[in-house]
Amino acid sequence: MKLYNTLTRTVEEFVPHEPGKVKMYTCGPTVYNFAHIGNLRTYLMEDVLEKYLRYAGYDVTRVMNITDIGHLSSDADSGEDKMLLGAKREHKTVLELAKFYTDAFFADCEKLNIKRPDVVQPATGCVEDFIRVISSLMEKGYAYKAGGNVYFDTSKLKQYHVFFNFKEDDLEVGVREGVEEDGNKRNKNDFVLWFTKSKFEDQALKWDSPWGVGYPGWHIECSCIAMKYLGEYVDIHCGGIDNVFPHHTNEIAQSEAYLGHPWCRWWFHVLHLNTQGGKMSKSKGGFLTLQKLCDEGKTPMEYRFFCLGSHYRHSLVYSEDTFENAANAYRKLKSRTLAVAEEGTVDAEGFARYKQAFCAAMDDDLNTAQAITCLYDVLKAKDLNGATKRALFADFDRVLSLDLLKEEKKEVAGGLSDGEIEEQIAARAAAKKAKNYAEADRIRAELAAQGILLTDTPAGTTFTRK
Ligand code: AMP
Ligand code: ZN
Repeated sequence: MKLYNTLTRTVEEFVPHEPGKVKMYTCGPTVYNFAHIGNLRTYLMEDVLEKYLRYAGYDVTRVMNITDIGHLSSDADSGEDKMLLGAKREHKTVLELAKFYTDAFFADCEKLNIKRPDVVQPATGCVEDFIRVISSLMEKGYAYKAGGNVYFDTSKLKQYHVFFNFKEDDLEVGVREGVEEDGNKRNKNDFVLWFTKSKFEDQALKWDSPWGVGYPGWHIECSCIAMKYLGEYVDIHCGGIDNVFPHHTNEIAQSEAYLGHPWCRWWFHVLHLNTQGGKMSKSKGGFLTLQKLCDEGKTPMEYRFFCLGSHYRHSLVYSEDTFENAANAYRKLKSRTLAVAEEGTVDAEGFARYKQAFCAAMDDDLNTAQAITCLYDVLKAKDLNGATKRALFADFDRVLSLDLLKEEKKEVAGGLSDGEIEEQIAARAAAKKAKNYAEADRIRAELAAQGILLTDTPAGTTFTRK
């Protein structure tokens, strides 16, 4: 498999540290608010990567942290604590807030068929590990105490800026406002490993440490949680593109200083989902959540299909039109996959040929759009029987997770399934084409009587349930 590596800025042949095994780390959500659909794009593409590695036969261990402490309103380690601000806003304790939004995050993931990582570790559960690693960094001379805080000394490294290719514009998600120079730092890029003093409001959660009562910085949590569960070598570290600097740059600095050898070989970054108005930002508010999409009659699987239709290394613009096109295409695709009859027996040679095309697409730096084209090729194939086609849909769906063969539950007792509604829509389109408008109106009215409303768009007819 070929995979782009942000560290080397090239598409490289993926070779894990230990043959057959992949150790994968994912920066998890900061749980002070709902995930927006941009965050979910990142988790969705990481899910496809994990599933494809498993599909390709690797034994994958995937670890994700939950940032329930230490992520300040500026990624540069200054500003107010996002968790504390959220807790005040919602009149909850920090831990109540974290639990509420962690549960909400995994509920969204479940709706989107995003698999839960093997290990999910909230940062508040690993403070001893942070203290141990920071102590070692102090002993090795990579960290210093100043003004009550412990800082990582970036001047001790041969090279601090290991990622060169980021564009400042891509990285900033409204995190720069409120950044003030910290006079305690010896070097501009030094960052906090442990806080005991903040000029902002006092932290609610604090722990005793050799440097005084306080709390850890954000970056140290990912390094420590990755090392705790994955050992000294990580094969793939994932996150959104905004994490490249400073978060991942700092993770590499402190992990390699601690370990004394290179740490993670592949850095997988997903480009942002933006709206037509610009970037989507959790800290600025006014963002789109999965629930909001569902309230508008859209479905999680339509969103999944929308994301898979574009490459993870391109930014993606969400608009009503682009979404509606993808949603229509998904509904049509699904009604077609469901309509394929289970006839004959699976033809092994045909199955292998189309599977090979699918793998070639995915091996090409996770080209999910091309993989979807392979699905359409199976649908259209004249040389495959129904049983082989269905076997291929099920096989590809182990990676794509688009519920291609899952019959929708009827919404109301005796109500129509999605497939049946699509059939009615097709019958109405045929009636219109034959200029039988009375029949077309009858179908529309009959559906409306069952609470199913049709909307005609240039890309086709869509439906919503009341
Ligand atoms: P956070 O909860 O803010 O720590 O972010 C969770 C994940 O979403 C991180 O991997 C971010 O890099 C990523 N992310 C943030 N904004 C966007 C966006 N607009 N599009 C895609 N991913 C994003
Ligand atoms: Zn992280």
